[in-house]
This record gives sequence, C-alpha cells and structure tokens, in this order.
Amino acid sequence: MSAAATPAALSVGTASARPGEVAAGWIEVPDGVDAGTRLPVTVARGVRPGPILALVAGTHGYEYTSVVALQRVRGRLDPARMAGAAILVHMANPPCFYGRRVYYGPDGKNLNRVYPGRPDGTVSERIAHALTREVIDRCTHLADMHCGDGNEACRPYVYWVVSGNAEVDRGSRELALAYGLDHIVIDRGRPRDPARSLYTSNTAILRGKPAITAESGGLGATDEPSVGNHERGALGLLAHLGILDGPPVRVDPPVWIDRTEVLRAPATGVWHAAVVPMQAVAAGTLVGRLTDPWGARLHEVRAPFAGIVLYVVATPPVSEGEPLAGLGAIAAGDGAPPAP
Ligand SMILES: [Zn+2]
Repeated sequence: MSAAATPAALSVGTASARPGEVAAGWIEVPDGVDAGTRLPVTVARGVRPGPILALVAGTHGYEYTSVVALQRVRGRLDPARMAGAAILVHMANPPCFYGRRVYYGPDGKNLNRVYPGRPDGTVSERIAHALTREVIDRCTHLADMHCGDGNEACRPYVYWVVSGNAEVDRGSRELALAYGLDHIVIDRGRPRDPARSLYTSNTAILRGKPAITAESGGLGATDEPSVGNHERGALGLLAHLGILDGPPVRVDPPVWIDRTEVLRAPATGVWHAAVVPMQAVAAGTLVGRLTDPWGARLHEVRAPFAGIVLYVVATPPVSEGEPLAGLGAIAAGDGAPPAP
C-alpha cells in the first residue's frame, strides 16, 4: 500500500473499523429453514498494519469462561497501541447460550462439527457458514476458545492440530505455546478436506491460517482461574503476534500429549464418574460405571492405556455414543517441540 492510500475499513458483519478504531456490531444469520440469530462481534484495528487475530468464544453455548474472558480482553484493546487487528466473536452460538444447551443447537447439531457450514442449512450450519465467510476468511490467525461443556469437568489444555502443511503447523505450534497453558494435545487426526473441515480451528488451518483450540474450565462455571487462563491466553496471542504489547505467558516446555482417546458411552444410561480431571490413570483404571435407571450395572468403563484424564462427564445423563471422558498419554522426550 502506498503511504498516500487510505486503508479500507476492516468489516466483520456490521462492525467496521478503520485504523485506530474499535467497532462493535453483529454478524447476521438470517432466518432460513429454521430461525436465524446474530452474533455479537468487536473489531479493534491498530494504527499500523499487522496480523489479524480472530478470538472465538462460546462455540458451545454452555461454555461460559471464554465469553467472560473476551469481555475482559475487549477492555484491554487500545488501537492507538496496536498493529494489525483483533476480531472478537463474543458469542458464536447464541441459540445455545440463551437456551442453555449442551453440545447441540436447537437443530440437534454440534456447531463444532458442521464447518465450513452451508448457507441453506439449519441454524448451526448457517452460523458456521457465516463465521467462515466473515471471520475465518478475514483473519490471519485464529483461536477457538472452549472449556468442558455444561456436563464436563476439564483440565486446561490446548489442541495443536497437525495438518500436514508444515508452515501452518509451525505457526499453530507457536500459538499453542503462546497461549500459556501447560498441556498441549497433539492432534494429527482432523479431516484434511477443506470442504469437510468440521471444526472451527481446522477450517482456518485448512485455509492456510495457523489456529488453535483452547480449553479452560467447565461445568457451566465462571471461576477466576478458568476465566483468567483464557484472558491471559488471548492477550498472550496478541503479544506473540505483535498486535498488542503485553506480558508473555509462553510455557516452554509444556507437557506434550501425543495420544488421545475419547471414551464413548456404549449405551444410554446413568453415568457415575470415578475419576477427576488431571488424574493419572493406569491401563485398566475404572473411569466410571454406567447403570440403568434402577441402578443395575450396565457397563464398567476402564482406561485403555496409561495417561491422564483431560476431561470427564461429571453429571449423570449420557446417551449412547456420546463422550464420557478424554484420556491423553504424555509424549516421551525432553519437552522439546515435536516436529509438525
Ligand atoms: Zn466446546
């Protein structure tokens, strides 16, 4: 751009910011085959050019820590001191947030499994489509901020997705370290077809943009440590990318988790968890019992390998096929970053 050119506004939905401005607005998701919604966003634009970081809160509507954290992050953004921009999606899934829904929207779909979405689909698919077009296509880096859902207890960690694009994967690994959480799950199993990216962060990655998914908190709580992790993590990313000065929170070396498994409910029933997040388990350790409504045992669920509990469903209702717990095994080695 020549020095004389006037930089165009950066627009996300109705939020439009020129250099040095902070704008609030909405991403409209119009009515379609079912009721639409609108997503509250902030665009904070620095006075100098630079990377554009998208921070996405509330993909799952019963996960509140990120929603609270982004309100705090917004108050820390000073465009006069910024390069590039930050796009804050304060609430990616209002139908789930205001409806207090766990996992699934009113259409029965999980927003974080329907990317890149469809303009003519049900509301979760239309939200994904709008976020892909308005946010993912406009950012250079992205963090999707989660916690255990309303029924899940969770230890803080970041997912580093290895996509096979070495340059993007290195960028994502640096974001994972810059978020400051001390456990990083290496995930090599996400889809690699951009037309079936399924997850928010994977959609960005398959479009060439480094991205992470971060987890802190759970069970519908807004406890200070869990909210603070996301606040510090978001500010850590802004500092890492040179968008906003701030104290680094990089953890080096973190604990790398290179094998994970989601244990799923073999039947619908009443779940009695026997472990808590962060607990170390041996192969064969009882993770929980599934009973019928009268209390008779249906299944005992045991750890398939030695590792730690990343998250566990901590409330009784479970349906066949749903997650019961996520286990991770700690990578061998000295903590040096694994190659992409
Ligand atoms: Zn989530």
